[in-house]
Amino acid sequence: MSTRLSIAHAQKALADLKHATDRCRECPLGARATQAVCGEGRPRPAVMVVGEQPGDKEDRDGHPFVGPAGKLFDRALEELGWRREQLYVTNAVKHFKFELRGKRRLHKTPAQREAAACHHWLEDEIDLVRPHSFLALGATAARALLGRPVAVTRERGRWQEDPTGRPVLVTLHPSALLRGDPAQREDAWKAWLEDLRIALPRKA
Ligand code: SF4
Repeated sequence: MSTRLSIAHAQKALADLKHATDRCRECPLGARATQAVCGEGRPRPAVMVVGEQPGDKEDRDGHPFVGPAGKLFDRALEELGWRREQLYVTNAVKHFKFELRGKRRLHKTPAQREAAACHHWLEDEIDLVRPHSFLALGATAARALLGRPVAVTRERGRWQEDPTGRPVLVTLHPSALLRGDPAQREDAWKAWLEDLRIALPRKA
């Protein structure tokens, strides 16, 4: 099969996967969210970026990384000379977990049992996308990819291998920078960019 045909095949299969994920009710999150949010981007990328779960805006729009954390990620990509379309961007958990505070839906970290229930969807996506390497943003993504609990602040910024030998680089989720101490924000931003630069080196 030519590369062009196999990419077209992967795109069609990814669209089918999105429909199947949308109907999934293997954990309680599917029934409460608006829709499943699967990954977007280019099959066979240099890097597959994996975050935690869709946020409020992603849940409503149906696209990954389009909220405030996604905007910060886009700003980092621009600094590093990359465009989103060159990557594949997804989340470890496909439905939005939240708690209601009045009319606001506040993000809640998915439980490990929910991330575990969702793991086969991520693996299906990986099988179709076939990236060269992975960038895990935050602890949920790092655990999903490395198959063990990960202390992100201790393990960030270096290449590791998952149990099957796939290269994975772990760093903070951009929402951690948004929540962080404003006085430390500039330093945190620079350190985060340094991590990302290892996974996303500037192209010649
Ligand atoms: S979060 Fe994952 S496992 Fe849970 S219902 Fe959604 S797709 Fe299924």
